[in-house]
Amino acid sequence: MSLDSETLARFIVALRRFVDERLIPAEAEVAETDEIPASVVTGMRDLGLFGLTAPEAFGGLGLTMEEEVLAIFELGRAAPAFRSMFATNIGIGMQGIAIDGTPEQKEKYLPRLASGELIGSFALTEPDVGSDAAAVRTTARREGDTYVINGTKRFITNAPHAGLFTVMARTDPAQKGAAGVSAFAVERGTPGLSTGKPERKMGQQGAHVCDVIFEDCRVPASALIGGVEGQGFKTAMKVLDKGRLHIAAACVGLSERIIDDMLDYAVGRRQFGKPLADFQLLQAMFADSKADAYAARCMVLDAARKRDAGQDVGLEASCAKMFASEAVGRIADRNVQVHGGNGYIREYRAEQLFRDARLFRIYEGTTQIQQIIIARALAAEARSRAGL
Ligand SMILES: Cc1cc2nc3c(=O)[nH]c(=O)nc-3n(C[C@H](O)[C@H](O)[C@H](O)COP(=O)(O)OP(=O)(O)OC[C@H]3O[C@@H](n4cnc5c(N)ncnc54)[C@H](O)[C@@H]3O)c2cc1C
Repeated sequence: MSLDSETLARFIVALRRFVDERLIPAEAEVAETDEIPASVVTGMRDLGLFGLTAPEAFGGLGLTMEEEVLAIFELGRAAPAFRSMFATNIGIGMQGIAIDGTPEQKEKYLPRLASGELIGSFALTEPDVGSDAAAVRTTARREGDTYVINGTKRFITNAPHAGLFTVMARTDPAQKGAAGVSAFAVERGTPGLSTGKPERKMGQQGAHVCDVIFEDCRVPASALIGGVEGQGFKTAMKVLDKGRLHIAAACVGLSERIIDDMLDYAVGRRQFGKPLADFQLLQAMFADSKADAYAARCMVLDAARKRDAGQDVGLEASCAKMFASEAVGRIADRNVQVHGGNGYIREYRAEQLFRDARLFRIYEGTTQIQQIIIARALAAEARSRAGL
């Protein structure tokens, strides 16, 4: 652990207080206006949330994976749009450079990402390239000391605010798969880079996604992350392994918050002369929800600890992401049911959290993609046992 246990405990308490006193009370306003108030963003910066995982040498807190998931269990209790604001900086929008960047790239970008002065986005998905991420069509053609990037990236979180994009582009058109893909750090303001109109989404209002368009966008060769061509897909997968544990932790936090909401409502509301909490058919929902959330928490912590111990946790990260995101979907759905008609009404948070939770099963690899990763890893183990 990079923090001693007392400092970590104090930090977790501070995060819980920030969530309870600043984030949850602002949820309705954010859902209505689709904007996170500037004062809340300043509060996030002051707490160091944009630099939770950046190495200490670059101004971050350098949290281990276990510490990160413990922090996200707390922060995940608030509506997910808040987490999205700083999450690309500590996750997918920064990790490519932190894991595989050259010393110059780290020096140039990590301190400003860690402070939140610069927002980072991760641009892999394209209009025709989603789950089959290795099929990237955006191209980066080498010309002298530069690369010329052409293509469109779709649904890029925080792109409307980002100052820096980690962009996966094909440097070798002869290689159709992963081997032809490289990663680039591209700054906003580079001629030829533009962003589209923010999408109108089902949920998570306050978090913004849009297209990122590259039209003969010329970047210096020094923008190639790690300085080596053909490593971009590997970089993206390393980023996503870590990102999936982070997302799973966010699902745990939201699950636990929703269970609290569910029970608060059920002990207060009476029907047939009794609190809802006394009805056994609803008690089954509470119990199933708690077991779901507890199992997800244990899975995330176990995988995080294994990652910190240096183990490859690709399979565990997929298990955790799949289970925790499906679990929060079930829990958010049960919460609407426990709220009855009120569960369908905007004034109560149940319907918003139900819509917010839906995204977790889709981004950073859908449930089906996690199933494929898990099943392939199991088959590889079986072949190896059989000597095949
Ligand atoms: C709000 C939001 C934010 C996002 N943020 C980012 C971001 O910051 N950066 C980024 O790069 N991307 C981002 N994405 C993109 C996201 O990661 C993709 O939408 C996701 O990976 C799925 O890709 P797709 O939408 O193209 O769906 P598709 O790949 O077209 O999949 C459609 C359906 O088919 C299933 N499917 C696909 N292939 C298979 C298969 N082989 N076997 C079985 N089923 C399969 C999928 O599971 C899914 O159910 C974001 C998306 C959203 C909605």
